[in-house]
Amino acid sequence: MDNPKCKICRRLGLKLFLKGDRCFSPKCAMIKRPYPPGQKAKRKSKALSEYGKELAEKQKMKNWYNLRERQFAKYVREALDKRSKNEDAGALLFKKLESRLDSVVFRMGFASSRVQASQEVGHGHFLVNGKKIDVPSYHAKKGDKISISPFSAKKAPFQNLTAVLKKYNPPSWIKIDPEKLEGELIKDANMEEASFPIEVSSIFEFYSK
Ligand code: SF4
Repeated sequence: MDNPKCKICRRLGLKLFLKGDRCFSPKCAMIKRPYPPGQKAKRKSKALSEYGKELAEKQKMKNWYNLRERQFAKYVREALDKRSKNEDAGALLFKKLESRLDSVVFRMGFASSRVQASQEVGHGHFLVNGKKIDVPSYHAKKGDKISISPFSAKKAPFQNLTAVLKKYNPPSWIKIDPEKLEGELIKDANMEEASFPIEVSSIFEFYSK
């Protein structure tokens, strides 16, 4: 029986990395059953309509960032607003979503999924520039230093994190210090470099109707 999060991946046909370590193991449902839930085996999938494709890309990105529809739609509309001012809306949307504290914590390797990162931020385990911030949607800026609070660092799941972080390669916009359990946002997140597997232009089409 699949976990509900794994069913989302199977339905959308994309690994969304919602279950931490399990996503990198042979137990991943996208390895064991890489076809939509309810189907007996992989069949040739029916071609989607234009609307179906746009909807699927929207669902992928919304779930990739572990957001509710209202939150996600707000980010897209803000980016669309900027598009009318000749700015690259896709890059802006990516940058904005990657600057959320839960996303930054995940990218720093402090949590094994965005779902876990969001819960840990909500439990007050992280400091931004030395100050406790427990709001997952808080937006970090270039130069911000994010660390695990000294009190939380002694507890699971952070106890053995230094060893894990020493083997972890963060994206180029992030620098981490495994010994200090601290990371810094050194530049803006870059969608091309992240080889983002979602067609962002379809999402804008979806919300422009
Ligand atoms: Fe489940 Fe993770 Fe695999 Fe998705 S990528 S199916 S969340 S284990």
